[in-house]
Parts: sequence; structure tokens; C-alpha cells
Amino acid sequence: MEGKIIKGVGGFYYIHLHDDRIFECKAKGAFRNQGIKPAVGDNVYMDIIDEQELKGNVVDILPRKNKLIRPAVSNVDQAVIIFALAHPEPNYNLLDRFLIMMDRQDVDTHICLNKSDLIKNDSIQEIKKIYENCGYKVIVTSTYEDEEGYDGVRKLHDMIQGKTTVFAGPSGVGKSSLLNALNPDAKAKTGAISDKIKRGKHTTRHSELMYIGEETYIMDTPGFSSLYVDEMEANELKDYYNEFAIYSPRCRFNGCVHINEPDCEVKAALDNGAVSRLRYDNYKQIYEELKEKRRW
Ligand code: GDP
Ligand code: ZN
Repeated sequence: MEGKIIKGVGGFYYIHLHDDRIFECKAKGAFRNQGIKPAVGDNVYMDIIDEQELKGNVVDILPRKNKLIRPAVSNVDQAVIIFALAHPEPNYNLLDRFLIMMDRQDVDTHICLNKSDLIKNDSIQEIKKIYENCGYKVIVTSTYEDEEGYDGVRKLHDMIQGKTTVFAGPSGVGKSSLLNALNPDAKAKTGAISDKIKRGKHTTRHSELMYIGEETYIMDTPGFSSLYVDEMEANELKDYYNEFAIYSPRCRFNGCVHINEPDCEVKAALDNGAVSRLRYDNYKQIYEELKEKRRW
């Protein structure tokens, strides 16, 4: 039987089959000798031990397309970072950190701006444009009953169709509401899985894939409230600000980090408004943080 690991807890792996059944499995395959540990998102072969009790063994792990570290999940097609346009007030510095973190893991990342019902359309378009100019797809949503918001939810639905998508964002932005809008019976389903998995002493929330039909999986990533972009050299950071790329070749200095150098074309672009001040300020703040860290 072929299936997908949607959750791993206490040595058990929960395998979702195409017929929508979920089997509780242990890892028994030859892959264990190779030191490969099954991960959420893995496509696996499973032997059924007990059809009634839905128990089995994972006997093989199929080749992975990729494997993320944060969140720990494999075979990811894309990520969607969800922020609210208001309530809570968006922290764009944090948004940039999410984008950098995903970019560093080579994941295509899109932005979803939720709660569009709370702010004026002009302001929405302004912020949407800033991130579109950096090469991101931006979807504006509202889970509240206004037509434009729902149009956004439909676009989000189209975006994730047939794919495995990591959903991340700070709490309170409406992630759960969006997940419910994308999949009205998600609640019932996750409930069913949680019932099956007897919670042990560990109350840490585990990463879990949610199947919403038609080969579509969503990974709801818990607990990303603050993020540190570590393990990166300060002068690497500029490479994650895609919008700098068209200007930086014309900076006077090779390897210009666009902070204090003279004849910096990125700063010239900033001055004439071609590079967003919001993005640049985030860049500078993260840059200085990284620089500071390296001194220790
Ligand atoms: P989560 O913490 O990101 O999962 O956020 P929730 O889905 O629990 O939503 C947090 C709060 O925001 C709740 O009170 C929701 O009713 C509210 N909310 C969710 N989506 C929207 C929206 O599109 N517009 C507005 N105004 N409020 C929303
Ligand atoms: Zn420069």
C-alpha cells in the first residue's frame, strides 16, 4: 500500500491512504539501516497488519523531492505566509524573516494578506504592490462575508489545489479561519485524527499534514511567533531581497551590501522610490542584527 505520513508522534507514524483511511504504523523497513528517519510528508509503502484496527508497518520511504528543517516536513511544493492587514497590526519585519527562511530552504513562497475587510482598499493595494514588486504572489483575503474577501479565498484555494503547502503566520491572523474556509470539514477531520492519537505526556504541538481532498495537503505550522534568521552571514542577506538584484550590478563596489557604501545603486533606487522603504528598513535591521551576532 502506498500512502503519506501526515503525522509522527512517539514512534508512531500516521499514514494517510488514497481511500482516506489513516493507519497507525511503526517503522520497520530496511531504510532504518541506512539511518533514514521517516518524516511528515514522506510518501511511503506500508504493510497492513490489522485492517480492522488500522495498524501497519512503514516498510519503505519513496524518494523525497525535498525536506525542510523548519518546519520539519518533506515533499513540500510551496509555502503560504499569512499575515493580517490589521488586528494584529502586521509586523513586516517578521514577514520578511518568514520569506527569507523559506527562500533559504528553496521553497516557493506566496503571501496571503487576510482581514481585508478591516482596512481601506488603497492601503491594501499599496502593501500588495510592494511585495509583488519583489516577485511574490500576493493574495488578499477575508474570511468575513464580503465578496472581495471571498474571491481571495477562492484564489487561495486554486493556488493550493493538488499541492502540498506549508501555511505559516503569527497567531491571530486568521489562519484557522482560512483553513476552515478552504476546507469546511477540516475541523471534523483533524478532530478525528486527534482522537486516534492518544496524547502522551508531551503536549508540544506536532507538525501535521491535513488532507483536504484531490491530492491537496496543508501543513499547519504551529508556533512561529518570532523568528531569527540565524546561521547566515550578514552579507548573504542582500541575496534574499530579490528587488535589489536589478540595481546591485551597478553599485560601485563589488559585493556592496547597500548600507554605507558610496555610489550604491540600491540606495539610489530607494531614494527615488523604486525600492520600497519598508523593505529596505527591514533589510537594514536584519543586516545589523546578523552583523552584531557575528561579532561574538
Ligand atoms: P489564527 O490564530 O491565525 O488561527 O486566527 P483565527 O482563525 O483563530 O482568528 C483570529 C481572530 O480573527 C478571530 O476572532 C477571527 O474571528 C478573526 N478573523 C479571522 N479572519 C478574519 C477576517 O478575514 N476578518 C476579520 N475582521 N476578522 C477575522
Ligand atoms: Zn549597493
